[in-house]
Amino acid sequence: MQSFKGCTSFRLVPILFALSFVVFYLTDFQIHAAWAQELEKDIRAESLIDADHFKLRLPEVGTLNQWEARQKELRQKVLLFSGLWPQPAKNPLNARIFDERKGKGFRVAKVYFESLPGYLATGNLYRPEEGIGPFPAVLCPHGHWKYGRLNNDEGGSIPGRCIDFARMGFVVFSIDMVGFNDCFQLPHDPSKSRAQLKADVPQPYEPRYYRADFNFPVAELYGLSLGGLQVWNCIRAVDFLISLPEVDSTRIGVTGASGGASQTIFLMTADQRVKAAAPVNIIGAEKHPGCRCENMPGLWVDLSTVELAAGFSPRPLILLSATEDPWTNSFPTRELPIIRKYYALYGAEDMVKNVHITGGHNYNAQTRAAVYDWFSKHLKSPNPPIANPPVIAPEMKELGDLRVFPDQILPDAATSGSEVIANWISESEKIFQANLPRTAAELEGFAVTFGRALSYILQAERPADDELINRKISSEKIGENLKYEKILLGRRGKGDCFSVEFVSGEKTGAGTLVLACPEERGGLFQSGEKSLNPWAVSLAEKGFRICRVGGYASGELSIPSKTWDSFSWPNAYNRDNCLNGIQDLVTAQSYVKKTWPEDKITVAGLGRCGIPAAFAAMVFGEADRTMVDLDRSDPGYDGELLKLLPVGSIKRVGDFRTAALLLMTKGLTLANAGSTFDGNWYRQKAKALGFEDNLELKLDKKVVCPLDLF
Ligand SMILES: [Zn+2]
Repeated sequence: MQSFKGCTSFRLVPILFALSFVVFYLTDFQIHAAWAQELEKDIRAESLIDADHFKLRLPEVGTLNQWEARQKELRQKVLLFSGLWPQPAKNPLNARIFDERKGKGFRVAKVYFESLPGYLATGNLYRPEEGIGPFPAVLCPHGHWKYGRLNNDEGGSIPGRCIDFARMGFVVFSIDMVGFNDCFQLPHDPSKSRAQLKADVPQPYEPRYYRADFNFPVAELYGLSLGGLQVWNCIRAVDFLISLPEVDSTRIGVTGASGGASQTIFLMTADQRVKAAAPVNIIGAEKHPGCRCENMPGLWVDLSTVELAAGFSPRPLILLSATEDPWTNSFPTRELPIIRKYYALYGAEDMVKNVHITGGHNYNAQTRAAVYDWFSKHLKSPNPPIANPPVIAPEMKELGDLRVFPDQILPDAATSGSEVIANWISESEKIFQANLPRTAAELEGFAVTFGRALSYILQAERPADDELINRKISSEKIGENLKYEKILLGRRGKGDCFSVEFVSGEKTGAGTLVLACPEERGGLFQSGEKSLNPWAVSLAEKGFRICRVGGYASGELSIPSKTWDSFSWPNAYNRDNCLNGIQDLVTAQSYVKKTWPEDKITVAGLGRCGIPAAFAAMVFGEADRTMVDLDRSDPGYDGELLKLLPVGSIKRVGDFRTAALLLMTKGLTLANAGSTFDGNWYRQKAKALGFEDNLELKLDKKVVCPLDLF
């Protein structure tokens, strides 16, 4: 990796290096769709996917080194889209273990701990009947069972599984999903009352705790989502398990079915302490999990459960599937060979195993027996695996009510759901502030960490030169001295195809101006006429080659909202109009750099294209100056950022501020700001970092045409 040579030659090379190896190969469907129509038609709007219309896309991975780099990327992406990068502070758990009951060969207690200050994770702790360990431990996140972690029927007996594990000598924590059983400070599905999620003993609906909702767009900007909170609860549950003196922290396993399998694959990706895993009936190349808690914004864009499972390599992984399960019915022939290939890179094919049972979407006794075997072997259980487990746990009647808060009364430590959300948001901002660079030297590290994270959040990457494809549409002379050219531009195998127009004069010494301007403001030509707008002529005469980017960047292309809304959690799987626009601008800048490598590049964004243009320039990393029309807005104000760029977790990585800090290392002009925009913050940062000469603020300047930015 190259090092920084000093402020003036500051480049974002490390980010680009990290992003450059990801080249996607396509499924058969996409190969036919994309290659046949390459540079004929942009197919992004008709290639939208969701859980039930899933298309597997896997990166080209040839070597172990490439795969290890990709594994790191997978880990960071799961953390980012779960709102857990940068990691929240780990507050004291203040765990309470109480009301322990004894059964034959096991004990079970009630547990709560603070996974966040004032927010309680809840569940049952099953332990071997006696002994001081060290014992291996298993975390059991449940799925969307009718009775949550207390579900005890033929399809899935979670208590039965936990009791069996405890008898084998494991310490087991059975954790509630958010909004299930005892974890009721925040709801799982705000449209359902908790009465539908009751445990074995009926619970009355308790509306007191349902004031806060995850369908709360501002919280998502800060990375707080239902799925992300569950990932955090699982990470904190591992903290809880290894805090127990009898647990061996090097022998931790995790298993769950369906929604519990989704949590399993998130945790095994996010937390290196997990040493063996058993996701049951969820990993499918043609179908993805469908609840809100499994579809965090941005997570599944160019990512899949199949690849996350493979990302666990070379650690021991057993994958359970079933003949009648809609996700995994063809697992042995469809998904398993793919996952095996990644394990083979380590020569560890024997560390991945599939057991395919006859049955439906469940976690039944037969499946449990296979998992017992695997965990016993790889986590070294003190007692042998139970070969023929009972279908349900008959002990449940004698054990009585295992709920943590059966009377609905929370301990004093608990805060309201609304406070949990408000606290998350303020802590998130504090973490960002603490990571802000104070010196130019710190900015180098910030560029690598936060710059890369922001590129991931924006789902944008700079294409390699050989990925770019273009086709000339027209070329003509305008007047005496000007030349007009229009091309279609795209990236090989991505299905994008958008227009880029160029105007140039006899001299081009000022370099190329990459221009993002909304369609409704008109293009290069005067409305209804064949003559160029005077500003375009003026810029060409000044020596600029103008490069106006169409496609999603200008709004020339867009996904109709009716189409977008017809998909479930569309932003979990797809780039929206704004993200496609940012990518098109990155692609256009890359084309300019490839075609005229010596040219200076100036990026200018007007109107609603101003802020996307700044993000695109940051991802590209080599624009000499970026000029941003803020369009009378203040991206520091959450309500406005939601309108400008509603991207999950973007505030966690610093939003527009991060892009601006990186752009001011070269040249940045900010103009036409909203009245609340804090120009002083940018001025002070530029001064502290030694870039005050690179920053130009024209906050009151009205921007009608590109000339107003100069
Ligand atoms: Zn869910």
